[in-house]
Amino acid sequence: MSGSLVVVGTGPGKAELMTPATLAALAKATDLVGYGPYLDRVPVTRRDQRRHASDNRVELERARHALSLAAAGREVVVVSGGDPGVFAMAAAVFEAVETGDPVWRMLDIRVEPGVTAMLAAAAEVGAPLGGDFCAISLSDNLKAWTTIERRLRAAAEADFVIALYNPASKARPHQLVQAFEHLRRIKSGETPVLFVRAAGTADAKVITTTLAAADATQADMRTLVIVGASTTRRVGRWVYTPRSEGTAS
Ligand code: SAH
Repeated sequence: MSGSLVVVGTGPGKAELMTPATLAALAKATDLVGYGPYLDRVPVTRRDQRRHASDNRVELERARHALSLAAAGREVVVVSGGDPGVFAMAAAVFEAVETGDPVWRMLDIRVEPGVTAMLAAAAEVGAPLGGDFCAISLSDNLKAWTTIERRLRAAAEADFVIALYNPASKARPHQLVQAFEHLRRIKSGETPVLFVRAAGTADAKVITTTLAAADATQADMRTLVIVGASTTRRVGRWVYTPRSEGTAS
């Protein structure tokens, strides 16, 4: 089979945070497949490149479309935001391969890493992910809310720094309120909480607060929320988590 499929991420938004490997894959592509706003971040380098913009909700369908284009001999790039493997298209592509035409398993499929929102958000404020951390998506489109609650409790019990992706959705505005309630039962009210909006872009905005005072209405779909561990602290205008637990105050 002559076609290929590369899954890339545009990074958090700023052009400089798109990797050179991602730019090279985009420049070679005959076809780009992705959610419209992510495709808009891709510079136009060739006029013969076809762009297939789609709705954000139909990930599996989009993955199948990309695979069938590649099987027909096209050089396809599937475009996600951030890193393509973090709550994004790379897993959808492999799910489509698993359940789709057996011929797709013979395709040349590759994933390029990108800068995920959690890393861009952490860099805006210092080094809050300096110790052990985990990432949880609060979206219950693809999993039960009870699963999310169980993971939040486990992460709090284990004293991980917690990065919360998809903290707010129009359909379920109470998710972050409920998540904070669960965390407050286990973690200290003094735990630093960060709301980082549009991290890694010129519009980046940071709110530094505590778990006791955190106001869930400050988060929207472009916000990444970081809840500290017991050792996470402020120094000057920065927030960091020491690498050693011995330096806990
Ligand atoms: N693949 C993406 C994540 C997709 S989930 C990545 O690796 O970053 C979408 C969620 O990511 C958003 O709801 C938000 O919580 C977070 N996000 C994406 N870009 C962001 C940015 N620039 N600043 C803050 N959060 C962002």
